Amino acid sequence: MSDSLLGRLEQKIENKILGRDPLPLSYPRRKTRAVKVGPVTIGGGHLVVVQSMITEETRNVEGCVAQIIAMADAGCEIVRVTTPTLAEAYKLGEIQAEVRRRGYGVPLVADVHHQGSDIAVAVARFVDKVRINPGLFVFRKPRGRADEYTPAEVAEELAAIEESLLPVITVCKERDIAMRIGVNHGSLAERLTVMYGDTPEGMVESALEYLKICEKHDYRNLVISLKASRVPIMLAANRLMVRRMDELGMDYPLHLGVTEAGDGEYARIKSTAGIGTLLAEGIGDTIRVSLSEDPINEIPACYDILQALGLRKTKVEFIACPSCGRTKFELTSVLRKVKAATNHLVGLDIAVMGCIVNGPGEMADADYGYVGKGGGVITLYRGRTPVKNVPQEVSVDELVALIKSDGRWMDPPGGTAVPASPFAKELAVVG
Ligand code: SF4
Repeated sequence: MSDSLLGRLEQKIENKILGRDPLPLSYPRRKTRAVKVGPVTIGGGHLVVVQSMITEETRNVEGCVAQIIAMADAGCEIVRVTTPTLAEAYKLGEIQAEVRRRGYGVPLVADVHHQGSDIAVAVARFVDKVRINPGLFVFRKPRGRADEYTPAEVAEELAAIEESLLPVITVCKERDIAMRIGVNHGSLAERLTVMYGDTPEGMVESALEYLKICEKHDYRNLVISLKASRVPIMLAANRLMVRRMDELGMDYPLHLGVTEAGDGEYARIKSTAGIGTLLAEGIGDTIRVSLSEDPINEIPACYDILQALGLRKTKVEFIACPSCGRTKFELTSVLRKVKAATNHLVGLDIAVMGCIVNGPGEMADADYGYVGKGGGVITLYRGRTPVKNVPQEVSVDELVALIKSDGRWMDPPGGTAVPASPFAKELAVVG
């Protein structure tokens, strides 16, 4: 018996003895209800929706309109706008009217925070979705309290929440629009932190209190989010939320995000660690990558996470080896040239591999392969089949010719340039 077979057998026996399930190889997407947000649907097996939030002041109507349109053009599928007071709520009405007048149907979400009942009722009369934060919606200033809440005190706070939430539920039901119950780790109500600590449990119970009130009044167009700036807390909260919803027979879709992630590369890595991990576990129906940058930069980051997981395909998937001592050409510059020639062919997988020894086996089922053979020669592959050997000087042109001969070529918009927004050209979709 080979060592690896013996190893697998031992692992199986060990799992059996310890009553342990082997690690699942993949997770099915969690089944959720479909929640309509204007023309977009979150959950219900639909594609994971990409969303973001504008940074313009809501009182600046023209600035907000311009930013919303720029975000929609970049591929943002739902745009959120803050409405801290009633004055901003009415401004959002003007903003939405102007966005629609200019021909954009992108759904708008009003973000409501402190003492938000009246504001939420006002915006719910025209927007597609209202986001409320349970930690702030019925706001009670933290007093540094440590002693337990009595059942009567808990009941009183829940009654106050229900009283404030009911008018919002009523309008949302009348207009058949959605609500996000968006819990943030950093703004849990004092009652929750006393009862559960500043923990994922507290976040989940905070969301459940609101969910139960909505269900009591037969309102279920709900999306839930549990965000934290610490990835492990965000992961734990969302996993626990799924477990609790399963126990309670709830199937609400989840909006994922790592909040206050910062900027630059680390913010993207942090967001990917949180959002990507949960998506890989089948959890999550809409995402936002929060960056301390122009929010337009959030959109490609979202799409990259989804593409890497095979959940959406908005650009060419380039597979390229890191190069090593075996590499038969200057891989970095060649990869750049191949990308420049082909990165508008959304839906294709193209591999650029340094050597003929390992390259073909590691091309991961790419549609086309560009592999260094040595002596200034490149072998072009269609799938796993070598098609022709070509001199390196003309290799990129030959790759293009091969794609053309297969009828899979299209000219880039404008002749040579790469499309400014490839997202509108999403051709192939997985999952
Ligand atoms: S494919 Fe070849 S050149 Fe590229 S890293 Fe592997 S061994 Fe090195």
